[in-house]
Formats: sequence, structure tokens, C-alpha cells
Amino acid sequence: MPLNKHIAHHVRDLPKSGIREFFDIVAQEKEVISLGVGEPDFDTPWHIREAAIYSLEHGRTHYTSNLGLPELRTSICKYVHQHFGVAYDPRTEVIITVGVSEAIDLALRAMINPGDEVLYHEPCYVSYAPSVTMAHGIAVAIPTRAEENFRLTAEALAEKITPRSKVLMLNFPCNPTGATQSRAELEKIARLCIDHDLIVLTDEIYSELTYDGAEHVSIASLPGMRERCVFLHGFSKAFAMTGFRIGYACAPAALTDAMMKIHQYAILCANTMSQDAAIEALENGARAVEAMRREYETRRNYIVAAFNELGLECFKPVGSFYIFPKITNSGLTSREFSLGLLEKKKVACVPGPAFGASGEGFVRCCYATSLDQIKVAMERIGEFLGEVKR
Ligand code: PLP
Repeated sequence: MPLNKHIAHHVRDLPKSGIREFFDIVAQEKEVISLGVGEPDFDTPWHIREAAIYSLEHGRTHYTSNLGLPELRTSICKYVHQHFGVAYDPRTEVIITVGVSEAIDLALRAMINPGDEVLYHEPCYVSYAPSVTMAHGIAVAIPTRAEENFRLTAEALAEKITPRSKVLMLNFPCNPTGATQSRAELEKIARLCIDHDLIVLTDEIYSELTYDGAEHVSIASLPGMRERCVFLHGFSKAFAMTGFRIGYACAPAALTDAMMKIHQYAILCANTMSQDAAIEALENGARAVEAMRREYETRRNYIVAAFNELGLECFKPVGSFYIFPKITNSGLTSREFSLGLLEKKKVACVPGPAFGASGEGFVRCCYATSLDQIKVAMERIGEFLGEVKR
């Protein structure tokens, strides 16, 4: 029976993630070095895993409140206040979600009416534009450029604002570019958001992973912004907890309440063991996070130097665990480069357009893999370039 006509049009027309499509190909290849999937190679620190084990041992196998465990919400508010300088009320202004992924979906669905425009800087995380479409909004990309260190400038933002603009999505440090924004730049963007009455979804999932001593500033901490920001964060990246599927959103009570309505019907509550583990992560995880961050910084230094030596220009990422080199002087498109490298040299990286059209000419390499593996991958990339240029 042909079922296509039964699928909602906006879902039927949604492209599959460019990352997943590519990794279906990778899965069929043997002995591939993957600089592809964006997740830590570290297992979750043992004391955090133990907290999940104790949770099960103690029979904590029941639902929690829809918003999440009160103890976890309290820990989150303490952490967000300490690290980002923004105060939230744990009773009404925090919701625990199934990863930042769910938080993005909730925030958009809670705020977007059909036809509202959502602005975001691009290249960006693969879920942003589809999530806007699924919320019946209109996704408006603002291309960022390697020559400007992939920063979002206030001027570029101003050009795209229309009377239908409602939300701006920000992600710094950025997946896939590794870009961050300075306080001064964020202040200009904040000014525009206030002037045009925009709500900001600020996805700060990589905020602990910054390098060269760079200061991470949350736009939510700037004057007048707390009231118009939804602050999104989680445990997947810095705490190496991708499989726990746990994240959170902090926002003024009216917005949190709106997100809660969707969450309570669609999800009910986040996984109880993961919530217990998340408390341990926030209360006692700082040392482990810093050790992983230092290791990523060592790898970043190596991979930046290696790409430059190969003559592939790249912006030096200041955060996250991705590098986004320009591959145009290989004479290949992003897709040809990624497929050729995979086929000929068994190294996987993601074609830049998976992160939006402005990613053409680039590939994303994730350095959350061991330095030894990275060294072999870079040698193979060197061989590949030698062969394609011949
Ligand atoms: N936001 C960004 C920018 C990401 O890169 C990712 C994952 O790669 C997510 C959100 C989703 O994270 P989570 O595992 O918390 O759902």
C-alpha cells in the first residue's frame, strides 16, 4: 500500500541528516578512522556511571516530576549561576530534557506560530533548520565566513531581520566551526534582539570546551537578555554522557511553562537514572571535565598545525572539538573530498554542506578521538591530497 500520501508534507519533504546519510556509508567500511561523529571518545567518568548504578540499586526506577528532579534543578541553577552568571529559580525556570536535542524542539514548538521566522548562523548544527520546519516556522540562515572566523556579525544579523522574525538561535562554541563570540560582539547582537523583540535560543553545549584561555560569555548574562533568552545546555559533550540523553533548558517561568506543556505530553520526564548521574556530574565532575578539555586542546593544537602543513587553510577553532578546514584547493567538492578520502584512505570526515549550504568547500573533522589515531588520519589525508593533486 503506498503510504507516502499519509505522511505529513512538511515531514515528507524534510531531508535526512547529512551526517547520518554519510555514516551509513561508513558503517559498511572496515578499519575506518573516524573523524566523523561528534561525540567524546572518553567513556563517562566512572564516578558518574556509579551514580547511575546506585540509582538502579536503590530502586529509583520511577517517574520524576515533569520538570525533573528538584535536586537536579537546584544543582543546575547553582552551576549556571557560577559558570554563566545567570540566576534561575529551580522551581519554575528549569526543565530537564532528553538531551539538548529535546530542549531545542520544545523551545521552538513552544514559541513558533506557522510562518514565524527563526534566524540562525550557518554552518550550524544539523538539527536547527529541520527543527524549525517541524515547528512550522521558516528557517532563515545567516551565512558566516571563514575570513571572519565564522563569527556572527550584528551587521549580517540586521540584514536578515524582518517583521516576521521571532527567534534567533545561537551556538557558541559552534558545531561545526569551533567559533566563539566575544563579549563585545554579543553585546551588539543583544542590542539588536532587544530592539527587534527577538527571543534568543542560546545553545551552549560546548561552553566548557574552550581553548587558549578564551572566556566563554553567555548572551543570557548580558543586561536585558535573561528575560528574552532560553539557555540550553546538557551533559553529552563536556561530561562525555551522550548515551545518558540528558540536557536542560533555563528560561523565564512563562517560557518554561510553555515548554513543560509539550514535554509532559510528549516525554513525561527525562530518565530517572540519568538525572541522578547528572547531579553527580555537576557536583563532582569538574576535575574530569578539565582533564578531558586539556586533552582536546592538545589534539586541537596538533590537528590545526597538521592541516596548515598540508596547505589546507583552516580557522583555528577556539572551542568545541571540531575543525572545519577549507578543502577547495584539492580541486574537489566537499562531498567528493569526503567520499574519496573514505574510499581511498579509510578516513571519515563530514562534508561541510551537511551543516548548511554555506559549508560547501569545507569538511568537518572531529578531534574527539585519540591523538595516535589523529596522527595516522592526518598522514592519510596528506597522501590523499598528493594523489588527487597529481
Ligand atoms: N546542540 C549542538 C550544537 C550539538 O552539537 C549537539 C550534538 O552534537 C546537540 C545540540 C545535541 O546534544 P544532545 O546529545 O544533548 O541531544
